[in-house]
Amino acid sequence: MDIFEKLLKHMGPIGEHSERAHGYFAFPKLEGEIGPRMKFRGNEKIVWSLNNYLGLANHPEVRATDAKAAADFGMASPMGARMMSGNTTYHEQLEKELSDYMGKEDTTLLNYGYQGIMSAIDAVCGRRDVIVYDAECHASILDGLRLHPGKRYVFKHNDIEDCEKQLKRATELAKAQGGGILVVTEGVFGMAGDQGKLKEIADLKDKFEFRLLVDDAHGFGTMGKTGAGTGEEQGVQDKIDLLFNTFAKSGASIGAFISGDKAIINYLRYNMRSQIFAKSIPLPIVIGHLKRVQLMRQHPEMKQKLWDNVNKLQEGLKSRGFNIGRTNSPVTPIYLQGDIPEATAMCLDLRENYNIFCSIVVYPVIPKGQIIYRLIPTAAHSDEDIELTLKAFSETKAKLDAKTYQVAEIPV
Ligand code: PMP
Repeated sequence: MDIFEKLLKHMGPIGEHSERAHGYFAFPKLEGEIGPRMKFRGNEKIVWSLNNYLGLANHPEVRATDAKAAADFGMASPMGARMMSGNTTYHEQLEKELSDYMGKEDTTLLNYGYQGIMSAIDAVCGRRDVIVYDAECHASILDGLRLHPGKRYVFKHNDIEDCEKQLKRATELAKAQGGGILVVTEGVFGMAGDQGKLKEIADLKDKFEFRLLVDDAHGFGTMGKTGAGTGEEQGVQDKIDLLFNTFAKSGASIGAFISGDKAIINYLRYNMRSQIFAKSIPLPIVIGHLKRVQLMRQHPEMKQKLWDNVNKLQEGLKSRGFNIGRTNSPVTPIYLQGDIPEATAMCLDLRENYNIFCSIVVYPVIPKGQIIYRLIPTAAHSDEDIELTLKAFSETKAKLDAKTYQVAEIPV
C-alpha cells in the first residue's frame, strides 16, 4: 500500500470534512491584537482560548521592548546553537534572572518547550534508568518517554498509592540494572486544571531514591505567592530537581527553560540534542523575556487580577450548576453530556450568536457522549466578558439539555 494513502485513510472523518471545517473548527484564524476580544470571520468574539494568563501579550512595556529589540538586532540574531555562535550576554542574563525567580542554582534556556523537555528526558535517562510518570502527562513528555531506551512505569493520574506501587517496581529494577529513577509529573494539568500532587510525590523521597522532573507550563507566573509556580504554591520548590517552564503561556511568547542544581543544568546544557543541534532563541525574544520576567516579579497585581477573574468565572459557572471538575488552577474546563453533532451545533451557536470563542474537546480525545469546553481566563478579561460568557453558557446549555441542537450546518 502507498504510504500516503494509508495515512489519508487514517484521517477518517476529519479528512472528509476538513475542507468544509477548515477555518472554522480546524485551524481557525483569529485576527487582530492578542487579547480577550479578537476578530473571527470578520466579527468580534470574546476569546477564551489563549494562554495569555497575565495579559502580557499586550502590555505596553512588553510591546515597546519587543519592538525596540527587533529593530536593534533583527529577528534572526544571533545565528546558531548556543554552543556555537548563538550565545549572548542577554541569554545568560535571562538565565540568571530565571534562576533567581525560580529559587534554583541554575537555568538553561530551551528554544521550544516541546523539544526541550523531550531532550531533557532523553539526556537524563539511559538504558538502565527507569522512568515513573503520571498517566495524564503532556504529549511532549510522552514523546520524551518514547526516546527512552529503558523501562518506564505509568501511575494512575495523581494516584499516590499507585505512584508508590510503581516506585517499588522501579526501585527493584533500577537496583538490579544499576540505574536510577526519574519521576515525571506536572504542576498544573492543562486539560483538567488540577494540580499535580507535588508535595505527596516529593514526600516519597523519604522512602525511595529518585529525582523529580516537574513540567509547570501552566503554573509559571500563575501559581505560588510570587508566581514561581506550583512548587512554590505547595511549598516544595526545593524538592523539584528539574523544573521545566515555558514562555508559551503566562509569558505570552515562545521558548522555555529548565532550572535545577548547577551541575545537572550544566550537564543538560551540553547534552540536550534539541539545543546543541538547533538554533538558540533569537535575541529580541530573549530581551522580551527579560522584560516579561521583570514585570511578573515587580507587578504581583497582574497575578491578582488573573485570580480575581478566575474566581469570578469559576464561581459563576458553579453557581449556575456547571460541572468544572477538579480544577484548582486558572484552567477552567466545563464538562457537558452530548455527542459530536450537538457539541458542534452548540459550539457554533456560541461562536455565531453569542460571540464566544473557546476550545472544545470531543470524541476521540475523550469518551463518546462527553463534551469539554476549556476556558482560559486571563488578567485582561473584563467583568463584562465574564458576564456575557456565563449568560451564553447558561442559555446554550439549556438548549443542549432540551435537545434543541440537531446536526450543525458549518458555515462556509
Ligand atoms: N508542557 C505542557 C504541559 C504544555 O502545555 C506545553 C504546550 N505549551 C508544552 C509542554 C510545550 O511547550 P512549548 O509550547 O513551549 O513548546
